[in-house]
Amino acid sequence: MSIKSNRLTTEQYKQNFSDIHPPFESHGAALVEANRCLFCYDAPCIKACPTSINVPKFIKQITTDNIKGSAHTIFLSNIMGAGCSKVCPVEKLCEGSCVFNLMGEPPIPIAKLQRYSTEKAMENKWQLFHRKKSIGKKVAIVGAGPAGLSCAHVLSREGVDVTIYEKEKKGGGLMTYGIAAYKVTPQFCEDEVDYITSIGGINIKYGNELGKDITLEELQKKYDAVYLGFGVGLARQLNIPGENLEGMVDAINFIYDIRNKGYDKVPVGDKVAVIGMGMTAIDAATQAKRLGASEVTLLYRRTRQEMPCTEVELEIAMLDGCNIVWLASPKEALGVDGKVAALKVEVMKLGEADAGGRRSPVPTGEEFVMDVDMVIKAAGQEPFEFLVKENKINNKYGKIVISNNCATNMEGVFAGGDCVNGGKEVVDAVQAGKDGAAAIIQFIFAQVDE
Ligand SMILES: Cc1cc2nc3c(=O)[nH]c(=O)nc-3n(C[C@H](O)[C@H](O)[C@H](O)COP(=O)(O)OP(=O)(O)OC[C@H]3O[C@@H](n4cnc5c(N)ncnc54)[C@H](O)[C@@H]3O)c2cc1C
Ligand code: SF4
Repeated sequence: MSIKSNRLTTEQYKQNFSDIHPPFESHGAALVEANRCLFCYDAPCIKACPTSINVPKFIKQITTDNIKGSAHTIFLSNIMGAGCSKVCPVEKLCEGSCVFNLMGEPPIPIAKLQRYSTEKAMENKWQLFHRKKSIGKKVAIVGAGPAGLSCAHVLSREGVDVTIYEKEKKGGGLMTYGIAAYKVTPQFCEDEVDYITSIGGINIKYGNELGKDITLEELQKKYDAVYLGFGVGLARQLNIPGENLEGMVDAINFIYDIRNKGYDKVPVGDKVAVIGMGMTAIDAATQAKRLGASEVTLLYRRTRQEMPCTEVELEIAMLDGCNIVWLASPKEALGVDGKVAALKVEVMKLGEADAGGRRSPVPTGEEFVMDVDMVIKAAGQEPFEFLVKENKINNKYGKIVISNNCATNMEGVFAGGDCVNGGKEVVDAVQAGKDGAAAIIQFIFAQVDE
């Protein structure tokens, strides 16, 4: 047993990380599905989308061969509509609410249809929005993730000049550096950022980190308003003995390396345990398997009823051959020569429901030991508490506290996305960016009127 890179051939990597949801093969195939839509009045699929995409409208536009109009309808509500069509957990959003489910029939493949229109728009570089003449106002955004990019696009459309400060070398945030490579490729993420910024008036300063290269005070002085969209940080610590042994890794770092270094460069164990059952845990487990680990086991301290990932995500992990152990919590990592060699696991049972109605796990006193050479920690992420506190921004456990109009306690500083909600989905961050932009525009115009 050992952790090593380059376990598979180039062809195997290519196959393992190929697109999990292939697109329609022809216009005809898209039309057949689009024509199944009932174009419901008061459509539940619109309500289920956090960005309120007018689903029946864009599907109707496909049926009339108005693909440009269809893409415009999607992007108007969600400028990352192309990316969301690949990464959204649609089974619990639009497709999950489609009326066909009530009739026991497969829902309209909304995501696939959305992908059909938006990919055509990106491929053909259709510029579907016009930027108003510059109004002479400048806004700084921290973070070029979904929240920052969505905020930037709305502001730019209104004639505001936007500068984004991004610590990485590429934009897209976790879309580029976090989400599983078999959902979105690095090239797609780069194209999506280029497509969004092609409207003009958005300058991304890469390699610029708030708290290191620039301070919030400087941004407040230089700009009319600031929007914080810097996301959340690394995985939560397990706080167990042996946590610092070699082979105990953070899921976010592990996935970042897969997206950043290339499949053959990322070391992976032979027997891997993944702690957690959220999207990050599933992505870490499936990708460890696809990198060549022979045994991957997901450990979760509650049961299937309480798991944060969707049934579809769980199915992907099971189809990839990952083992699942419910009601299991890591107690101690055991090492040999400084490297993790086994994991002592405590068997749990469900106790009383907590304030949120979820039953809490309680130790049973029973334990077992499993052989492992790698443990991936994916039991939630920690907000950038230091960054928030250093800048004296009101927060709750490191999550930025905002008012109804997205404002923080600092004058002219707004925030949204994962850094506020503690980690949800891309589509929520996009909506947060839109809300932030609307609040900033109101703030800027209130200053003009004074
Ligand atoms: C492993 C993983 C898998 C996921 N899978 C999915 C999925 O399949 N579907 C889905 O919808 N969602 C998924 N998510 C969640 C989704 O990626 C996030 O909710 C979304 O990206 C949040 O957007 P954001 O803009 O708020 O933050 P982020 O995407 O985190 O973007 C924040 C940006 O700010 C930058 N930044 C951070 N600190 C600083 C600083 N000090 N100065 C300057 N820049 C800074 C970062 O580099 C980053 O570019 C996943 C998340 C993870 C971790
Ligand atoms: S709920 Fe389903 S059938 Fe109704 S409009 Fe939405 S996608 Fe079409």
